[in-house]
Amino acid sequence: MMSNNQGTFIEINLKSLENNFNYIKSIISKNTKILAVVKACAYGSDLVRISKFLEKLNVDYFAVAYISEAIKIREAGVKKPILIFHPQPNNFADIIKYNLTPTLYSFRILNLFKDSLREKRVKKYPIHLKINTGLNRVGFDSNEISKLITSINNDDFIKVEGVFSHLSASEDHLETEFSLKQISLFKQSFSKIIDNIKDEPLIHICNTSGIINFPDAHFDMVRSGIGIYGFSNKLNESNSLIPVVSLKSAISQIHDIRKNDSVGYNRAYVAPKDQRAATIPLGHADGISRAYGNGKGFVYIDNKKAAIIGNVCMDMLMVDVSDIDCEEGDEVIVFNEKYTAEQLAESAGAISYELLAGLSQRIERKFIN
Ligand SMILES: *Cc1c(COP(=O)(O)O)cnc(C)c1O
Repeated sequence: MMSNNQGTFIEINLKSLENNFNYIKSIISKNTKILAVVKACAYGSDLVRISKFLEKLNVDYFAVAYISEAIKIREAGVKKPILIFHPQPNNFADIIKYNLTPTLYSFRILNLFKDSLREKRVKKYPIHLKINTGLNRVGFDSNEISKLITSINNDDFIKVEGVFSHLSASEDHLETEFSLKQISLFKQSFSKIIDNIKDEPLIHICNTSGIINFPDAHFDMVRSGIGIYGFSNKLNESNSLIPVVSLKSAISQIHDIRKNDSVGYNRAYVAPKDQRAATIPLGHADGISRAYGNGKGFVYIDNKKAAIIGNVCMDMLMVDVSDIDCEEGDEVIVFNEKYTAEQLAESAGAISYELLAGLSQRIERKFIN
């Protein structure tokens, strides 16, 4: 039934992507800009196709984690600004060459970037400043703001086009107080910056769950990743958002297993009774980690749940189809709009982000328009 090399493919529904983008737009004000996060191959989908599609939908801004991702979409013709969340000093020449926007998150990075600009005789280069408000990952601390302002005003190498921060637990209602504290700390920091520099930066702090849970903190721009791909932490939002990425495969072979026969490496599964096991061309090299093995994870065949038995192999996994009427070549749904990546991820203690972003590049991508 499939012509692709592996028998497994990722289906990317661009209509659902458009639906999600429009939904996010509908819950922010007209004046708030929207930044689409396309890091990690657009959350495991397809970096270039997704970015070009979002540009057509008139997204205001893009963000990636690392520079190679930004260069790929620039070279594919994307014109909108691209923010790099976590640039490294050896990227600076290319950042300038490809007209990318670095996040400056420490004095070390700020000074090294200024050195690059000085060397290339570039002035007023647009950058975003990252403020640490409690995630303790990257960013200037609030007690460094005065020194930061002095450095900004000391010369005119950089133009502060944005000031942002990131919430630690925006999806967690038990941590609302902490999120509000982060937002308030952020307000103090960016107000001080705005009051003391010439530039008028874009202010942003909300990721997808921040957009949904903290409408008063949208400021000038919001950053959506997982929401665009169809997931959020709120049930009613989950109805408005549609998962964009499906993972589908087909049964390669079915074995009749007798009681006490083992299945897969290390004989991790031993059949308690006579059974049927189906082999699926999908393994841990494709992003279905061994954590999904041994009865935790599952796929759907003929709308019935088939548990993964034994260890997940590098390129294949086996599922129990004893109670499923199926044959070799039949379609397998690993996840789709109905049987979501989030549910599968949960079975192994993972989250949708991890399962999606871990999908291997070797899996063929198909697009539904
Ligand atoms: C990944 C990331 C986002 C996107 O978060 P979602 O929860 O996927 O919307 C936003 N901002 C920063 C700094 C990130 O690293």
